[in-house]
Amino acid sequence: NLAQIGVTGLAVMGSNLARNLARHGYTVALHNRSIAKTDALLENHGDEGTFIRTESMADFVAALERPRRALIMVKAGDATDSVIEELADLMEPGDVIIDGGNSLYTDTIRREAAMSKRGLNFVGTGISGGEEGALNGPSIMPGGPAEAYESLGPLLESISAHVDGTPCCTHIGPNGSGHFVKMVHNGIEYADMQLIGEAYDLMRKALTMSTDEIADVFRQWNSGDLESYLVEITAEVLAQKDAETGKPLIDVIVDEAGQKGTGRWTVKSALDLGIPTTGIAEAVFARALSSSRDQRTAARDLASGKLAGAPTDRDRFVADINAALYASKVVAYAQGFDQIRAGSAEYDWNVDPGALATIWRGGCIIRAKFLNRIVDAYRDDPDLPSLLLAPYFREAVSAGLDSWRRVVATASTMGIPVPAFASSLSYYDGLRAERLPAALTQGLRDFFGAHTYKRVDKPGSFHTLWGEQTRTEVEV
Ligand code: NDP
Repeated sequence: NLAQIGVTGLAVMGSNLARNLARHGYTVALHNRSIAKTDALLENHGDEGTFIRTESMADFVAALERPRRALIMVKAGDATDSVIEELADLMEPGDVIIDGGNSLYTDTIRREAAMSKRGLNFVGTGISGGEEGALNGPSIMPGGPAEAYESLGPLLESISAHVDGTPCCTHIGPNGSGHFVKMVHNGIEYADMQLIGEAYDLMRKALTMSTDEIADVFRQWNSGDLESYLVEITAEVLAQKDAETGKPLIDVIVDEAGQKGTGRWTVKSALDLGIPTTGIAEAVFARALSSSRDQRTAARDLASGKLAGAPTDRDRFVADINAALYASKVVAYAQGFDQIRAGSAEYDWNVDPGALATIWRGGCIIRAKFLNRIVDAYRDDPDLPSLLLAPYFREAVSAGLDSWRRVVATASTMGIPVPAFASSLSYYDGLRAERLPAALTQGLRDFFGAHTYKRVDKPGSFHTLWGEQTRTEVEV
């Protein structure tokens, strides 16, 4: 008897996905570069389902039923390339290679093209939900040939998270689309976490609340509009005490945020596509600033220029922060979806934003009640120019606008950094502005570089002989 699917790469993610598959009744072939991980999995969890132990890649491929399906869960980058090559040499036309690692979407585009030349189906899939999700139901974002999804889809859908009976897995589109949307998902995750961090920091510094009090606020928020996995675990992280010192653990953790790169990739792609994904960019830069230890130490005695003290009404300001967090979160998602639509257009992927919001409702790190609203927004208007224009979000942001402004103003006068709250508000104001100073930018560009400009009153491109007294405008 052969395996319906094989997993190669049995570190945390691979072994948990293999167990998830086996628990759903699939026979799973196991392979890892070093046999120790394979044996550890079999020893600890071998009774959870039917596994086939293999040592060499050739045995692994031979253990798979046709068309073969092999899921790669190794380190992203060169390791993934070498495993793909090894597998491809052993496989036959029609077989399916699935890369479930966090690969850069341009690598996936390249790999899919190379594999399709060899008659192999290559599926690059985003998988979100971390270790726990991999075991109990992740959100899965597969990109690749539709033909491959026909045989692979049911299997992936069955092991994914489900919300209201709907699987958190759908065919995203061709080649790199799955990894692209997973990348933007991670970018949104960065923005979400930065916004939560700013909300926490304001309660801490502007309202001098204790960590336990702030944990309570997040717990309450998690039963309202902000209900989400990240808000839920924020309450838990803040409530945790350090076993050694008895202090809140958060106060013992060094305030330098790490990053593995998907946020940075999102911002690079946003720059290339010309999409102002400012919420995610601020989040990536905030992590970079936090990690600039030497500069931060040297800058500790810079003037604060504080203009105001703390808000007097604590409850009201906590409610303001809630509204600012919600509105800024809408902006971050609106920008992320703009980027997905731009990427989809650039690469001809035809990604359905509503279907994507549907599979992000469960399993993944950014899962939130809020996603239902995004699903509704795209169902009502698939061509929505911005999520901010959907009736529900338009209303919600407008209702919290005064609060949002008070939060940004207070943070500014008190000298508390809120890069994501503030830039999201500026984005909102920029988006709704009737006139922007871009007219001046165009004037300056034409002045020093003859870059031309357009006029509000007639079509065409124009150049001005700046400073001349007579008619100086030339149509170009
Ligand atoms: P790691 O990224 O730590 O990768 C370790 C695995 O890769 C081991 O099985 C290792 O084999 C194998 N490996 C490394 N180099 C090679 C190579 N040159 N040839 C063959 N195998 C190699 O494991 P994770 O489980 O954390 O992640 C797996 C993938 O999933 C990564 O791409 C990651 O980005 C992605 N991912 C991770 C998430 C997470 O929460 N951790 C969430 C979503 C995606 P060996 O045991 O022999 O060293």
